[in-house]
Amino acid sequence: MERSAEYFNAAEIFGENVFNDSVMQERLPKKVYQKLKQTLKEGKELDLATADVIAHEMKEWAIEKGATHYAHWFQPMTGVTAEKHDAFITEPMENGRALMSFSGKELIKGEPDASSFPSGGLRATFEARGYTAWDCTSPAFVRQDAAGATLCIPTAFCSYTGETLDQKTPLLRSMEAVSKQALRLIRLFGNTTSKKVTASVGAEQEYFIVDREKYLKRKDLIFTGRTLFGAMPPKGQEMDDHYFGVIRERIAAYMRDVNKELWRLGVSAKTQHNEVAPAQHELAPIYASANIAADHNQLVMETLKKVAGRHGLQCLLHEKPFAGVNGSGKHNNWSITTDDGINLLDPGVTPHENIQFLLILTCMLKAVDIHADLLRESAADVGNDHRLGADEAPPAIISVFLGEQLQDVLMQLIRTGEATHSIKGSLLETGVKTLPDFMKDATDRNRTSPFAFTGNKFEFRMPGSQDSTAQPNIVLNTIAAEAFAEACDFLERAEDFELAVHDLIKKYATDHQRIVFNGNGYSEEWVEEAKRRGLPNINSMVDAIPSLNTEKSIKLFEMFGVFTKAELDSRVEIEYETYAKEINIEAKSMIDIAGKQIIPAVIRYTTMLAASITAVKAACDANVSVQTELLVEVSDLLADTRAAWSKLKEVTKRGSAMQEGRAQAVYYRDEVMAAMEALREPVDKLEMIVDKDMWPMPSYGDLIFEV
Ligand code: ADP
Ligand code: MG
Repeated sequence: MERSAEYFNAAEIFGENVFNDSVMQERLPKKVYQKLKQTLKEGKELDLATADVIAHEMKEWAIEKGATHYAHWFQPMTGVTAEKHDAFITEPMENGRALMSFSGKELIKGEPDASSFPSGGLRATFEARGYTAWDCTSPAFVRQDAAGATLCIPTAFCSYTGETLDQKTPLLRSMEAVSKQALRLIRLFGNTTSKKVTASVGAEQEYFIVDREKYLKRKDLIFTGRTLFGAMPPKGQEMDDHYFGVIRERIAAYMRDVNKELWRLGVSAKTQHNEVAPAQHELAPIYASANIAADHNQLVMETLKKVAGRHGLQCLLHEKPFAGVNGSGKHNNWSITTDDGINLLDPGVTPHENIQFLLILTCMLKAVDIHADLLRESAADVGNDHRLGADEAPPAIISVFLGEQLQDVLMQLIRTGEATHSIKGSLLETGVKTLPDFMKDATDRNRTSPFAFTGNKFEFRMPGSQDSTAQPNIVLNTIAAEAFAEACDFLERAEDFELAVHDLIKKYATDHQRIVFNGNGYSEEWVEEAKRRGLPNINSMVDAIPSLNTEKSIKLFEMFGVFTKAELDSRVEIEYETYAKEINIEAKSMIDIAGKQIIPAVIRYTTMLAASITAVKAACDANVSVQTELLVEVSDLLADTRAAWSKLKEVTKRGSAMQEGRAQAVYYRDEVMAAMEALREPVDKLEMIVDKDMWPMPSYGDLIFEV
């Protein structure tokens, strides 16, 4: 039987659009290839002659894939990627034919005008120059879409004066910091062979899929990515029947295309399933180095959106597109591994004997405890404010889940200074002869913890679904580097290493045990308990932002050359501005939708009711109490709506006239958001009463149950 053209061999297409190591090995002259490898290994700059050869081969390869343009692909602080396309075509030759060229200089350096990207006051608009520089640790790729094919070169983005204007540069700096300090630490335990330690990340991406026709009828989704109005349908997620449910055909066909696109780009999309909320799904790739994982996650988000359009669907990456059901996050799985394959977070079978692991683990407890505010901040974005602490989302309090086995080892350490045994996994008897009994893990999972140790990695569950993974990993890498450095400073000077390391582990475990919490993170009791323990509970982005440039934070980031004070200050500015701007757009969208769509629709409905009362009365003396009651109720709600609408207009106007900065952001959170909620209330009530045919937009039920 002939295989349908629709089926494809995943192994054959995987990475076919990536200028990866094997392509380079095949196409580059041996010497050039070796030079590049050497440069990568030593983290040095590439010389222009070598870059010229690489650029030429890259261009030839890209043209074979149909590429007409190249683009420096970068990640400014807008949360999404940016690119500027240039055609390969250069001056026409004498016979009028175009020459295709791409030089080493064009490969390694670009000069997009930086003045329109957020810089938080780092750069005045007249100093518009910005540079993009090739990050040769992340491979170039060809993206094929409606615009044709484009050779995309992952780049870092900085200002004329060298300050970072992007997410990639600090991420790369933090990776170097954690590598260096982790190496120092394992040297103390006799490791002489590992040369590098890589922070690896696996980012699980959650998203919603809705029908595109319906999406286009929702101005709130179009302008803000979330619904600003909408009453709960009769059914939500209470039956748990969507989670891991059979994937519907339309969605399955979409996922298949997403996977195909991603595989061709070398993104190892691996897991896919339905999530808890109706219309919610998840995609997880196989983990990769933190830098590549961040790039790949951007490609995942782009691809999810792009392919949805082809299927008449719309992908919603917002953290809380629908009130009342779960929001979307991006679980950030993080580990550190040596170049010779040792995962430093692997406890082994008997963790109590693994002193190196216990030191690393307690260093992490210390790091997370001391910098809980920074971790919380790294997950802050405007959309995530609706998620943290609500429904399935982790609470806004940072705590670490260790599980029974490690918790027990830790308690032994704290009590006696020594751990003598580890709880073992036991046999799980299925009770069915034909099913195998199997060894269960020594530790169950805890889905309510924001920062859970899951076997050989930490899973940070706070980050929002539309945010870059760069920020949380910059923080994780740097705080780990600091804790390792401090431990090494002490241990390198110790006379009796064995004794010193035991004391240090006990000290860290004791001093920072308050950050460990294995219970239900969603319970009210935990909020109280966390308060007693003195753990910060930062409920909104606006309150999280100041952690970025505290003295503690500046000292941390400057020490490891990740951010300067000026860069941190600029990021603080950008975040306040972003917050106010996004809420301003939401408020204006509500004003627009309520004013032009909802209020007129409700007036039409009341007119119809009034006409019906008159008509019925004229025809006979029948009972018109229902119409009358409805008319009164709807008219009252309409009056409430109009009053709330006017109030929202007024506060928004005041807010947008304010100077940008913290005070404006606080105003938007406290005044504008409150006015938005006040407008939503009567409107959602009206939606439950007004004739569905007259309601001007699809309902929650239409959107999440009919995809
Ligand atoms: P879950 O059961 O938590 O949903 P998934 O299998 O969906 O787990 O996702 C786990 C993610 O963690 C994947 O992206 C996976 O590649 C990643 N991961 C696995 N091991 C490691 C590791 N050592 N370091 C970083 N990420 C890892
Ligand atoms: Mg998960």
